[in-house]
Amino acid sequence: MKTIALTFALFATFANLVAGSPDSVQTAEGVLKITPVTHGSLMLKFKGKVIHIDPWGRGDYTGLPKADLILITDIHGDHLDPAQVQKLKKSGTQIVTPQAVAQTVTEAVVLHNGQKKTVAGLGIEAVAMYNHKRGPSPGNLYHDKGRGNGYVLTLGGKRVYISGDTACIPEMKALTDIDIAFVTMNLPYTMPPEEAAECVAAFKPKIVYPYHYRGSDLNVFTRALESHPDIEVRIRDWY
Ligand code: ZN
Repeated sequence: MKTIALTFALFATFANLVAGSPDSVQTAEGVLKITPVTHGSLMLKFKGKVIHIDPWGRGDYTGLPKADLILITDIHGDHLDPAQVQKLKKSGTQIVTPQAVAQTVTEAVVLHNGQKKTVAGLGIEAVAMYNHKRGPSPGNLYHDKGRGNGYVLTLGGKRVYISGDTACIPEMKALTDIDIAFVTMNLPYTMPPEEAAECVAAFKPKIVYPYHYRGSDLNVFTRALESHPDIEVRIRDWY
């Protein structure tokens, strides 16, 4: 039996390293499955429900199920892709977005930063995401405060944070009891890996996934968190 268990454990570890294969996290109400899709896009499966986050048609959705719940963080094309939303919708799909996205996805349930709601039977809190200084031109920011939403989902007692496109902002540092965090890091739009690590070291999620990291050196992020062995960094292939 021991040999079988060990073989299975080794296989499971290997499976987690294969690009595109889902990770599993045990919660108080069953397994949460995490599938990276591309860039800022991912799929979660929990209690038979499928959650697509920022579904973007550049990702490979072959074989992935349609959504019970879709979360959209912001208006930019890598987060709001109405054609991909249409493809993943089925009867009863619910969509949660900030107000700016609801101008396009008119059937969405709107959440503002700081608001909480139960949608599709799942607890969802919208949190701030914004730049404080980076922008396309002086006086303009890529992401204005209040326009987009990061999200904290509560799934079987696990708190899952999806940062959206943001710099390391005080609201992120102040997050508490996060079990799994998806944290953006890319320039010029969000933040460099060292800034992301500074924020992660402050709110101390149990597991952190760099995502939306195109062009970033993830070694910088991993090294910056070496002094925090309580934070597990999970590097996956999102591209
Ligand atoms: Zn983006």
